[in-house]
Amino acid sequence: MNKKKDFLRTIVENDLKSGKYKEVVTRFPPEPNGFPHIGHAKSIALNFGIAEDFGGRCNLRMDDTNPTTEDTQYVEAIKDAVKWLGFEWDGDVKFTSDYFPKLYEYAIQLIKMGKAYVDSLSEEEIREYRGTVTQPGKRSKYAKRSIEENLDLFERMKKGEFQDGEHVLRAKIDMSAANMKMRDPLLYRIRHAHHFRAGDEWAIYPMYDFAHPLSDYIEGVTHSICTLEFENNRELYDWVIDTLKLEPPRPYQHEFARLNINYTVMSKRKLLELVNGGYVNGWDDPRLPTIAGYRRRGYTPESILNFCEQIGVAKANSVVDVAQLEFAIRDDLNKKAPRVMCVEQPLKVTIENYEGEEEIEASYYPSDVPKEGSRKMPFSKEIYIDRADFEENPPKGYYRLTPSQPVRLKHAYIIKCKEIIKDEEGNIVEIKAEYFPDSKSGSDTSGIKVKSAIQWVSAPHAKRVELRLYDRLFKVENPQGIEDLNPNSLRIVNDALVEPAVIEEKEQERFQFERMGYFYKEPVDYSDEHPVFNKIVGLKDSWAKKSKPNSEKKKEQPKQKAQPKNEQKEGSVIPMTKEQQALFDRYTKELSLNSEVANTLARDAQLATFFEEALQNAQKSAVSIANLISNEVARELKQKDLNELKFTPQQIADLAQMIDNETISTKIAKEVFELMNQSGEDPQKIVKSRGLEQISDPDVIAPIIDQIIDKNPQNVQKYKEGNKKLFGFFIGQVLKATQGKANPKIVNELVAKKLDS
Ligand code: ATP
Ligand code: MG
Repeated sequence: MNKKKDFLRTIVENDLKSGKYKEVVTRFPPEPNGFPHIGHAKSIALNFGIAEDFGGRCNLRMDDTNPTTEDTQYVEAIKDAVKWLGFEWDGDVKFTSDYFPKLYEYAIQLIKMGKAYVDSLSEEEIREYRGTVTQPGKRSKYAKRSIEENLDLFERMKKGEFQDGEHVLRAKIDMSAANMKMRDPLLYRIRHAHHFRAGDEWAIYPMYDFAHPLSDYIEGVTHSICTLEFENNRELYDWVIDTLKLEPPRPYQHEFARLNINYTVMSKRKLLELVNGGYVNGWDDPRLPTIAGYRRRGYTPESILNFCEQIGVAKANSVVDVAQLEFAIRDDLNKKAPRVMCVEQPLKVTIENYEGEEEIEASYYPSDVPKEGSRKMPFSKEIYIDRADFEENPPKGYYRLTPSQPVRLKHAYIIKCKEIIKDEEGNIVEIKAEYFPDSKSGSDTSGIKVKSAIQWVSAPHAKRVELRLYDRLFKVENPQGIEDLNPNSLRIVNDALVEPAVIEEKEQERFQFERMGYFYKEPVDYSDEHPVFNKIVGLKDSWAKKSKPNSEKKKEQPKQKAQPKNEQKEGSVIPMTKEQQALFDRYTKELSLNSEVANTLARDAQLATFFEEALQNAQKSAVSIANLISNEVARELKQKDLNELKFTPQQIADLAQMIDNETISTKIAKEVFELMNQSGEDPQKIVKSRGLEQISDPDVIAPIIDQIIDKNPQNVQKYKEGNKKLFGFFIGQVLKATQGKANPKIVNELVAKKLDS
């Protein structure tokens, strides 16, 4: 098993070991009243994943008990989503509506046992009689009906002799139960509505709490996994199965935390509003968090599954940063997508000293991606570069083409600006340039220094494409509805240009357009005459930039001379300079870094400077700091310059120290780094505000323990009388109360102290 074991997998494993079940059977039970979303992906990954891991089966069951909202188009969308994510359900798709006759029989059985009755109170009275959390309810006078009368009324309800709302079938349990769900819950209601599968056969429909446990039982489900909102329903789930004395094995319900993502709405009701209101273009609009939307946008199933695995399964609700999902797709495509050239806003460049044409063999992948392949890029006298890559009056730190600063055309030559041509309004319409014949990438002997390499396309060979540039659908972290929509969530560019390979590589669906982002051939609207590409995700988080820059932090950054980034020379290992060798020796000998990390840092002046700075006040954390810098920081510096980084060396040192003193795990540290990278926020703050840290402070833990001890006097008594097993109970309660974040070592010590005092 490759997945790490979450608490549900542990339960399943124990149930199999103990012989409670011979085979694990799970199910994914959506209501077909909307397209499935990324939250459903989490549930799909979990249910199908568990069945897969333990050699069991997983059913796909449409929970279609509400005739007024359900539809076959949703059934198809759900099937598509499960298949696309790479899972196979056991046998045919199942439908709760197929069990209506069987469920009806079970209801009759309950009536005959005196455990269910037909109630004729109005909806309002039922609510009133139910009481409140602090006050018991009172039972309806109709609860006294005889079994015969109940059977007769229930049959006539089924036949359609009554109006909607005239009667309901209720379980007879306990009107003063602490759990409100147990106060004679509704089992059936009358609905004169057409059902998309059962037609008009039924005038009564079972309620979720009745249909769900029994459907699970009928299918032989062993682990009925659902989200935390159903925690209170579990008692009723058990009541239904126990009261009917169903033969074992029977299913048990287990709850986990639902997925929430910031900048996203996830309820089907809200998604329906966006679709029906025309705020998006259908359920598969690439801006929606529906699986169909992600698919159309160009997300891969692997990226979504990786994301689901990374977020894990927990018992406490939380909100996941959408940047984490974006990271997952970037991470996946980084390994897969060929790098090609696209120019979003073409600016013509005429290379005056170049004649003829040539084809440049250019690799599709950078050297750190273990994939091979290349294409031939036509090069000629007239090319296009992006408008943003030329500045007549460059701001400080501008590394691309200017009247006085040459630039490399990626994979090709270095050019320099000779003349700027403007139209009557003063807009730049063309650059006259000169190229350096001996500067060709790979065999550059020109000795000319450039600060960056930009994308370009050959004018006579370039192809025109439409780009659909998507951004987040909502502009606020916690969107409530349409008032929070981001007005710029879709921008269409009609006259971008791409190199020919993008069009000619027919089987290739996803590309990285260099320096722009990852793009996907629009699966519906793409044609040879009119190629259209969806932007899947940018190369870095553009929202990070929009958040407030932390100007104080910026000042602390080490002063850096603007250094050109070394274009990596393929193949040969360049010997270290004397200075680099000295650094390498110190790193390996004095700081005990491993040689790979030391090599990375010593050879890169930027990384080395950053490292030295971070070490200033955190000598003891050298190894963790070095690891963070040689991995995380180095990756960022491939795309950015030092002065563009949001975080400071000090913050990286702080992060390393949090790893070393076990405040957070290295895994969480990566997550924290991503957030620092976006916002420049202090790692301590991030960990705090998101509650990522272990709670180790006895002053925080002690009062929680006191509360639990106060609440459980009987268990305290029993413990003191010698039932030492109850120690685990108290530990468990404390961990639960702190959502698993209390440091178990400290909890153990404190609980022992309090109980034994
Ligand atoms: P919504 O509230 O978005 O309409 P739902 O819970 O009503 O969703 P169902 O079709 O009833 O949708 O859900 C099918 C399964 O998917 C259920 O087991 C449910 O618990 C699970 N599920 C739904 N939303 C999420 C989520 N955000 N995270 C994890 N699981 C979810
Ligand atoms: Mg639902």
